[in-house]
Amino acid sequence: MLFEKFEYMAEFQAELAAQDVVPFGAITEKILSATEAVVSGRKVILAGTNNYLGLSFDPRCISAAREAVGNWGTGTTGSRLANGTFMEHHTLERELAGFYGVNHAIIFTTGFAATMGMCATLVGPGEVILLDADSHASIYAGAQLSGAEIIRFKHNDPEDLAKRLRRLGERSSQTLIVVEGIYSMLGDTAPLQEITALKREYGGFLLVDEAHSMGVLGTHGRGAAEAAGVESEIDFIAGTFSKSLGSTGGYCVSRHPELETIRYCIRSYIFTASSSPMMVASTRKALQILQSEPGLRRQLWDNAERLYSGLQALGLPIGPSPSPVVTVSLDDRARAINCWNALMEAGIYVNLVVPPASPSTNFLLRNSVSAAHSSTQIDAIIATYAGLVDAGLIVVKQDG
Ligand code: PMP
Repeated sequence: MLFEKFEYMAEFQAELAAQDVVPFGAITEKILSATEAVVSGRKVILAGTNNYLGLSFDPRCISAAREAVGNWGTGTTGSRLANGTFMEHHTLERELAGFYGVNHAIIFTTGFAATMGMCATLVGPGEVILLDADSHASIYAGAQLSGAEIIRFKHNDPEDLAKRLRRLGERSSQTLIVVEGIYSMLGDTAPLQEITALKREYGGFLLVDEAHSMGVLGTHGRGAAEAAGVESEIDFIAGTFSKSLGSTGGYCVSRHPELETIRYCIRSYIFTASSSPMMVASTRKALQILQSEPGLRRQLWDNAERLYSGLQALGLPIGPSPSPVVTVSLDDRARAINCWNALMEAGIYVNLVVPPASPSTNFLLRNSVSAAHSSTQIDAIIATYAGLVDAGLIVVKQDG
């Protein structure tokens, strides 16, 4: 029966409903600011968004979007290859290429379409795609569509990558290696210096998905590749507008002129309507702000460090170093659901992540900070976790 395979999900839904918990698709009834909303009838601090620079509510981005909707209408009603390339799309592509100091850029309707489309198109049957095992679903989807041989290497493990490149022999030069800048679930960063050194040794091409690191890492906010000083060795950088740029859409930039030809072969670019002009306009404004206000990035990192050290002091099971994504990993599903619920009741909205969306068998409480959070808000998040520890909902290591 077609529907049998969904039974596990129906059971999980029933378990949540019995507890009156709605962690997935909780309805935001009102957005009050970049960091506060009314969710499921409750005023909450938003501690589970990807609004790293807090720009989703920036008045300059809002007014750019308003102006664009007046000038260009609500949607393009067509694909980039047909009637859907407006001057705004073209201009944003030029601006993104300029931001990265390369000549070629493509914008997509979503970040998912960007990474999936690039992975699906750059390699094909007979070639190899080498993925970090914790790659985002869009990367896996693209790899599957590509028809290339899919090989996974251990998360953030250059030695394992080297072993697999070695085994490929001559085929390594026809291989696309795909990693992320900051990984979305645990907030850790790819070791790009080691990975680019391997690329130098074995050949191949490297695509970095900077979805969570653009606007977050690097002196100019260009991401993990900038922070690692290896930008000139990256073949393709993909990313999204839906995180630090606060809108929706995706992109890929490259120094390779071939990107202009590849553009006409990417199905998730050709066969879908282009981004609405208001999204493009607010993204353009956000990209300007990202460049002209480096203080936002500093504020983001101050907040990240404040949350990290607060949760670390409580002895919570979090990652090894500060990041705008600070994730508490629990191995018990019921406990994770209870914690999520208790956080909501205390007015803190975080992401509950369950397998297979979490990279291991763990259940995650994913907390993320924004430059727009005040220190009072960060302290409220920490104090709420302290309450969960006191109530025995999270068991911490004895010696911290
Ligand atoms: N790549 C990564 C690493 C992501 O985390 C995401 C979104 N969570 C995407 C791509 C897709 O981006 P979008 O939501 O803009 O489609």
